[in-house]
Amino acid sequence: MRDVASPPKTVERLIPAQRELQRRADEHLADRGRTAVLAQLLLVVILDAGGSFRHTVPVAFTCLTASLIILAVTRFWILTGSSDGRWRLQWDPHFPLRLNIGAAALSWGIFATVVVSSHPVSHGNYHLAIIAIFAVSSGAIATTIADLHLLSFNLCACALPVAAGTFRNGGAESTILGFGIVCFMLFGLIQARSLNRSYWSGLKDNLLLQSKMCELEQARAAAEHANQAKSEFLANISHELRTPMNGVLGMTALTLETDLSAEQRDYLDLAQSSAQTLLVLLNQILDLSRIEAGHLDLVSEPFELQTVLDHVRIAFLPEVQRRGLDLDVSVDPAIPARLTGDAIRLRQVLLNLAGNAVKFTEVGRVCVDARLQHLDAASATLQFTISDTGIGIPADKQRLIFDSFVQVDGSLRRRRGGTGLGLAISSRLVEIMGSAIAVTSSPGIGSTFRFALTLPVGQPDVRYSRVPLAAPAEAVPAANAA
Ligand code: ADP
Repeated sequence: MRDVASPPKTVERLIPAQRELQRRADEHLADRGRTAVLAQLLLVVILDAGGSFRHTVPVAFTCLTASLIILAVTRFWILTGSSDGRWRLQWDPHFPLRLNIGAAALSWGIFATVVVSSHPVSHGNYHLAIIAIFAVSSGAIATTIADLHLLSFNLCACALPVAAGTFRNGGAESTILGFGIVCFMLFGLIQARSLNRSYWSGLKDNLLLQSKMCELEQARAAAEHANQAKSEFLANISHELRTPMNGVLGMTALTLETDLSAEQRDYLDLAQSSAQTLLVLLNQILDLSRIEAGHLDLVSEPFELQTVLDHVRIAFLPEVQRRGLDLDVSVDPAIPARLTGDAIRLRQVLLNLAGNAVKFTEVGRVCVDARLQHLDAASATLQFTISDTGIGIPADKQRLIFDSFVQVDGSLRRRRGGTGLGLAISSRLVEIMGSAIAVTSSPGIGSTFRFALTLPVGQPDVRYSRVPLAAPAEAVPAANAA
């Protein structure tokens, strides 16, 4: 058994590829061969209508017609012999079709030779036969382009006997025509070589492209599978990590309530703040992995938007007051008091965007605003805007910040810390809610994040998610993160 990891040797890969190329070339030959024999029968009908072959060369014309009919029937018999479309004859499967195609060309060559030998050069039948030979030879180049030997045979079988016939006729006109036919044949043979080369290289390129596309598709499926496995692993592991983390936080809080020296209290405060930051990070990883694994469903419950925004204000008030910033949280009074949606996830998004605004603003103000854009009996469309007068984001980074673990470099950003996951989670949550977060920003002036949500008004049936949601990863005030 071959080692699974070792790639197949070159020869092992080449042989099936060559077989596949030959199979495709045979398929083309079969397809074109079918059409060509029908076109040749049509040409016989045209010759019959335009000339008087039935009177001047009745035997040759009948033989040509009969042989083409027999060749057409046998060609179809060869090509459609079995139900799976494969060759019917057991012996060399390419040979019967090639024999059939060659025989048709030879029939035309013999017929045209009889015509040029039995008519004067000025006779209409003479011209028609020469035109037919040019037509059949050109058709032969197109039909048998995959097989240079068959192509050469067809050209020679069509043209050589006729050229010989014209030379035998004698006379200047006939001899010039004979030379013309020979030149056409030689030119056709030269062109055929390069056409044949282009045909095979095109076929190879096509096969290569298809196999590359197949490999790419396999690689994409493998990467998707690995990503899914990673997300599931992360979801499981971060869930397992959260439990002991909560234990550490609980015990630290209990110890802080006991008699401690100032130094011990400082140490424990630091431990508690680090544990809280770690828990936020774990929650963010848990959220992101759930979203990526497709396991995060939203709940649909009645809620009050005012309560959600009050929560945002309360979360950041101490921080903005300490740093001398203005925090302006406003809710459009036209917004219905009760909406339906996932208030916890909406709050998580707003906390994250407002948390970033506070974190990256040294002076000035942070505004969180909810406006009514549209209202009807069933739903309300709300526009959320979170703006700040902070350090801003360079234009070339504005798209990247929504990717996981991306942080724009800068001393303030380094000081303020963070994980680079908040916006990735928020933007995906908003996507699940049916919208998208847009950002406009100018470095040194500030940033504005916006998204619009359409939420049902009133109280529909409550529908809970399949997976119980973890407490969402909310923004940590900058002081904690730092
Ligand atoms: P984190 O804030 O934890 O680093 P986020 O995903 O929330 O992660 O943000 C990613 C990055 O986007 C931030 O590190 C920061 O560089 C930039 N950013 C986000 N919001 C703002 C903002 N309001 N002002 C300036 N930069 C911002």
